Amino acid sequence: MNRPPSGPPRHDRLRRSRELVADVAHRLADSDDDSALPEVPTGTSTGLISCHACAAVSPIEAEGQPCRRCGAALHRRKPFSISRTWAFLLAAYVLYIPANVLPVMTTRSILGVQEDTIFSGIVYLWVSGSQLLAIVVLTASIVVPLLKMAILTFLLASVHLRSTWRLRQQTRLYALVELIGRWSMLDVFVVALLAALVRAGALATVEPGSGAAAFGMVVVLTMLASISFDPRLLWDVVDLPAANKMAACPAGPAAKQEHLTDPS
Ligand SMILES: [Zn+2]
Repeated sequence: MNRPPSGPPRHDRLRRSRELVADVAHRLADSDDDSALPEVPTGTSTGLISCHACAAVSPIEAEGQPCRRCGAALHRRKPFSISRTWAFLLAAYVLYIPANVLPVMTTRSILGVQEDTIFSGIVYLWVSGSQLLAIVVLTASIVVPLLKMAILTFLLASVHLRSTWRLRQQTRLYALVELIGRWSMLDVFVVALLAALVRAGALATVEPGSGAAAFGMVVVLTMLASISFDPRLLWDVVDLPAANKMAACPAGPAAKQEHLTDPS
């Protein structure tokens, strides 16, 4: 008879999260097509580069040189953005396997030694009646890292393919990655919470397994990958004709090619 009181708030929460997801989906599927993109002046199209430290504007030829005002090195885009993002992302993909296959915690009790992976922990939580906690762990530990890696892979592929497909939505996807990046911190809490739960539950000791280290690395690596990515690279393809004219080309064709493909 204790079900009805817990019913309405849970439904409320479910409804709210459904609305949130529907809102995000709606915004991502926003039907503004690329032909509607307004023609606006950009740094690339006007041949200017902005200092990341003091925002002073310099000619784009000053790339790599110190800012005339504050002395910071001038970069049109984050240096080595694509290769750095790929490196962090691939490392995260590799470590995602041991993070899910190896035990994240080892429980020693009078009943023996039990090793739990992330997934077996989720199953245990679900079966033992903590469905909500199971969903939180599933979301934080499996869905969110995978979603982040998938979105970053998609955005990198889009930069490589010079795609002009739904650039606004792609930019929003990157904003989504940055947004859920904060939730990666949740993963750490989840492991701590599990350890606390088991410790309180019985005469047992809990030790983090080797999977936990791999999992922590995945969290850190996906954060580094999303920090390394420069969303302005997505829009370079729109400025390309202007950039072609502009970069005809103080430092020769090789430099121009590098300029336009990987502005590292
Ligand atoms: Zn400056």
